[in-house]
Amino acid sequence: MNAPLVRGAPDIAPHELVSRLLHATAQDQSGAVDPARLLSFLRLEFLPVDFDTALRGVLPVEAGNARALLSFPDRLVAVDTRLDQKRVRFSTLHEIAHYVLPEHRHALYLCDADGLGFRARLDFEVQANRFAADLLFKGHHFTLEAHAAPVSVATIKAVALKYEASFESTARRLVEKHHAPVMLVVCGRHPDRSVIDSSQPAVWPVKYCCASASFKARWFARVQGEAPAEIAAALTAGGRDVADSIQVEMPLAGDGGGVFGVEWFYNQYDIMGLVVPG
Ligand SMILES: [Zn+2]
Repeated sequence: MNAPLVRGAPDIAPHELVSRLLHATAQDQSGAVDPARLLSFLRLEFLPVDFDTALRGVLPVEAGNARALLSFPDRLVAVDTRLDQKRVRFSTLHEIAHYVLPEHRHALYLCDADGLGFRARLDFEVQANRFAADLLFKGHHFTLEAHAAPVSVATIKAVALKYEASFESTARRLVEKHHAPVMLVVCGRHPDRSVIDSSQPAVWPVKYCCASASFKARWFARVQGEAPAEIAAALTAGGRDVADSIQVEMPLAGDGGGVFGVEWFYNQYDIMGLVVPG
């Protein structure tokens, strides 16, 4: 009988730990991960909690924005009931990461929206997010599938549905792991514009970019500016599927940048562009 894997030894690399966990729970194949099987294998309890009401007065004031927690002594993962289903999945995997990563030895982890987000700053949160993404996308399985299909929004939609991940995190993962030169530009609606003058069209400035290693090596790591107004208007007019994208050729990053093929799409929150060399 195999001894249950409780925590990683310090000499086990995180990606090795990911594949051991997937293997031990019979999930080392393509398709969506089931966090419940990981929790059960690790003998962790899972509890959905309304953090605002149920935990007010119990948690320290500075934990007011907490959305998920891991208590080592209680062997408990709790996740805020206000999170949507995909965030519950990711937050659960994030707490599992704190539990198994050998250097994460606090008795209690309280993780807020910033720590659970793509732009987390604290080392432990960054490590836990990376580990959670590796579990969510099944290590190399997602990467192999992404490489076998064209670089397109249709591919992003197909694998996002298959892995039960958000379109944005799937797009980011595809770009980060891809050997081909490709970049993702994420544009968010400018929050103040409609307050100032609601007759003006919304403006969608670039929030962040991520690019494959080969794209960054040959071109640039980020662009500035806004999503083209007429494309933003068409994408957000309503009733449009995420994969119903708009493809254009356009110059990026000024005179030295060159012309690129950009496939624009909208996930009902942000406008995103998938950029490939023109
Ligand atoms: Zn955390």
